[in-house]
Amino acid sequence: MTTEAKAVPVGESRFDVVIVGAGFSGLYMLHRLRGLGFSVRVCEAGSDVGGTWFWNRYPGARCDVESMQYSYSFDEALQQDWRWSERFATQPEILSYINHVADRFDLRRDISLDTRIASATYDEDAAEWTLTTQAGARIAARFCIMATGCLSAARIPDFPGMADYRGSVFHTGHWPHEGVDFSGLSVGVIGTGSSAIQAIPPIAAQAGHLTVFQRTPNFSVPARNWAMTDAYEQSWKRDYAALRRRAREETRSGTIYEFSDKGALAVDAETRRREYERRWQQGGANFMHAYNDILVDKAANDTAAEFVRGKIRATVADPQTAEALLPHGHPLGAKRICVDTDYYETFNRDNVTLVDVRRAPIERLTQDGLRIGGRDYAFDAIIFATGFDAMTGALDAIAISGRGGATLKEAWSAGPRSYLGLMIAGFPNLFSVTGPGSPSVLSNVIVSIEQHVDWIADCLVHLHRHGVRTIEPEQAAQDDWVAHVNEVAHRTLYPQANSWYMGANVPGKTRVFMPYIGGVNVYRRICDEVAAEGYRGFRLAAAPALGIKPEPCAAL
Ligand code: NAP
Repeated sequence: MTTEAKAVPVGESRFDVVIVGAGFSGLYMLHRLRGLGFSVRVCEAGSDVGGTWFWNRYPGARCDVESMQYSYSFDEALQQDWRWSERFATQPEILSYINHVADRFDLRRDISLDTRIASATYDEDAAEWTLTTQAGARIAARFCIMATGCLSAARIPDFPGMADYRGSVFHTGHWPHEGVDFSGLSVGVIGTGSSAIQAIPPIAAQAGHLTVFQRTPNFSVPARNWAMTDAYEQSWKRDYAALRRRAREETRSGTIYEFSDKGALAVDAETRRREYERRWQQGGANFMHAYNDILVDKAANDTAAEFVRGKIRATVADPQTAEALLPHGHPLGAKRICVDTDYYETFNRDNVTLVDVRRAPIERLTQDGLRIGGRDYAFDAIIFATGFDAMTGALDAIAISGRGGATLKEAWSAGPRSYLGLMIAGFPNLFSVTGPGSPSVLSNVIVSIEQHVDWIADCLVHLHRHGVRTIEPEQAAQDDWVAHVNEVAHRTLYPQANSWYMGANVPGKTRVFMPYIGGVNVYRRICDEVAAEGYRGFRLAAAPALGIKPEPCAAL
């Protein structure tokens, strides 16, 4: 990994645009805007670029979207040159790809690393945002773009006794860069979401004993990862531009799967079983696309869910453990489907124990470990695989105040409200990349990122060309969009699960379905129409009269 460009000191400075975050979003946003001649500064809290792939370094971390699709499409030479080594890329490989992109496009010179933004304040008279870093530096810019990620605010539940515990504590989303050696240790893992399901098999292979504390069993399908073959790679690269276009414009998730035009109940039980089995053997989230109604019809969903429960029963040798691992109570896929390598098989190891903490929740941490239902468990290390304050957590961590000093915290106290997931009424010139109200986490997020970045870049060019000083959603357009996001979600089975999509994993967080489920294809068309109609639903305010011209962007 190249790390030559360390923190650029941020004194008092002024730019056309400030971007918060140097993950996939922030890097591409910088590349686009710099190419258009805007002066840009990116502020990144981490000590290097990479965002989620910089922080989530736990053993077994890899992407569950195929690497040929989980990558930038904006540059033909980049997508032809880069070679992925596996069907599903590991975290280190994705991070080295991101570093390659940063170097290839010479992005580092405009990025301030180790620079955490504490506040962002809008000055109405100057039509300018001032961002203050945790170290006290100030950066002013006409436009502020939050590229802070949807799953970046790692969350440890508020257990009593955290300070009492004398062993080592880790969170999957904040893993030590030097790695951790669990050899011979007694380890506890709390959580059974995507992160835990990936981390548990390799940690179990190393630890002396691993105890998994499960509150809600999840559905997981096998990855069946394989080393990349030239033939598979070429099947994409031969026609990359057209395939990327198809993913963007013709799919709902921004990922090409083997889609079906049939409903699950339109075929007989044996046909269904064979189709589920075929997809199970192929591996990956393609399983979810066996029939076109799995996420909208409970009876259809039940057929797929029962197939997976059958696989769990067949894989886990101890019937009691198998029973405890069976997901009931939420539809398959309504919590994000997990993709694993040997997850269920790991419970057949002698050094792995499953503890159900649904009926008897974790009471507290003690000096030596955890207390549950009056029983003490001792551990050398405890791993919190307890997820994130998703979609809103990273924005919530910055004190953002807009027009009239109103804070984003107040504006979002009853759940996040935005227009298109791109902008928020009362917060002029503030954009979010893959914000709540956009397809974001329900899509191949790189497809969503590229679409948002391109839309925002085009918007800034439009504003500049037309002498527009501020852009902000109209309240009515935002209200309509929020209602639409909600209405579309309730046509599906998603709201039936207590998921992080609903904010249900954070006690006290308002439960609303945060991402837009209408599909990246539909969403892109809406965003394009909005722009083509002169930014329908946005209020665009010109620079004041008296001959004051809009400040020029560097080279436009
Ligand atoms: P998560 O899905 O939110 O899972 C958190 C786990 O911690 C859940 O099992 C949860 O149980 C448990 N938990 C939370 N508080 C608890 C408490 N007080 N007591 C006991 N258990 C508790 O988080 P994640 O696994 O980090 O995954 C988050 C998202 O990141 C994924 O859905 C996915 O979008 C993304 N991700 C993707 C990949 C990939 O591409 N392969 C890998 C990792 C993560 P409950 O379910 O009962 O709340």
